[in-house]
Amino acid sequence: MEKCKIESIKQLPVMPLTIEDMTWNKTGTWRLLTPVWMNKIAPCIRGCPIGQPIPQFIQAVLEGDWGTALVRLLEVNPMPGITGRLCYHPCQTACVRKDLDSAVSIKDLERLTADKGGIPRLTRRAAKGRKIAVCGSGPAGLSAAYFLAMKGYLITILEPSDRLGGFLRDLPEGRLSSEVLEREIRRLISVSGLDIETNASEVRARKYDLVLLDRTAYPSESPEARALEKFASSAGQYLDVENKEGGAGFKVVQVAEAVALGRWASNQTEQILGTAFTEESQPFTALDKGELKFSRLPDQKTIDLLERAKGGPDEAAATEAARCLSCGTCNLCQSCIIACPDACCRLDEDEGKIIIDLYHCKGCGICSYECPRGVMNMEYLP
Ligand code: SF4
Ligand code: SF4
Repeated sequence: MEKCKIESIKQLPVMPLTIEDMTWNKTGTWRLLTPVWMNKIAPCIRGCPIGQPIPQFIQAVLEGDWGTALVRLLEVNPMPGITGRLCYHPCQTACVRKDLDSAVSIKDLERLTADKGGIPRLTRRAAKGRKIAVCGSGPAGLSAAYFLAMKGYLITILEPSDRLGGFLRDLPEGRLSSEVLEREIRRLISVSGLDIETNASEVRARKYDLVLLDRTAYPSESPEARALEKFASSAGQYLDVENKEGGAGFKVVQVAEAVALGRWASNQTEQILGTAFTEESQPFTALDKGELKFSRLPDQKTIDLLERAKGGPDEAAATEAARCLSCGTCNLCQSCIIACPDACCRLDEDEGKIIIDLYHCKGCGICSYECPRGVMNMEYLP
């Protein structure tokens, strides 16, 4: 057979031609299943008494951004340098990485973040003009005072002795130095802007809308614990902050539980004052370990970040951070973007999320198949 030879453009057959792009052709109606991008709660977060955003702060460590890593922690924990030293780290017991080799050293990364993160700026809510006294400055009292101050209340801590910290003071050698305790308290005060009155002996009750009493701050029978009783008698109406499960106090290793109790007390205070502010929040979904795809890890972004840290001062921290699988938390690795055959996934850098163009997504599920972390899921949305 003779070959067909085209010698001029006029001899070309008529063929369909797209002058612009194909975005007008909304093929999304073909879809049965819809990809849904949603962060979920990792097992380590569920294990932490405070619920710290562990994958998020570890990702910032991997990026060498200690300031952001510390902000992530300070949003839920006013004293990460203390919990990072004393807590018995139930987060690590829950870490999925144990299924591959060993748990990520979350506690060490938390301590390092607190040591290296400086004093970041966090946004406080607008002042509410309500005054609250917190009597006693153990970790629960400090935590309640911090969260209330961040929510815009005018807070004064009334401490019967001359030093803050409650049962965290004077711990045996090697557990918590006074320098670290002072640094953590200084940062907590600086970030939240609360007031301190040491050597206080009574509450001028009329000055405050509510008084909180941190009964967990000191061992019972100590002079400070007795001094707190005096506060109680001068305070009129007050809210007891006490550990209902383990008696009045906490063991030193339960410092995270004390912080969590303080946050609970801050929420209770708002309920009592009738000033609770209901934020719209996404429903929480816990990650099921079976949703992770170990064979697709580590992703290219993690490999690149680790390469960038090599030879630098934070290489050891980055190497440990890169072991975190970021379970259920999108680290913007972009595997879904690369894999989508219809170019429907897009990175929104400002919001830090993946956007899906549902006008053109045909629901093939490749993005979900490629996502290593169980963040992209195919759902039937009628
Ligand atoms: S691998 Fe990372 S995100 Fe997953 S459980 Fe361990 S610390 Fe948490
Ligand atoms: S593939 Fe990567 S970027 Fe895409 S949703 Fe999953 S974790 Fe996020």
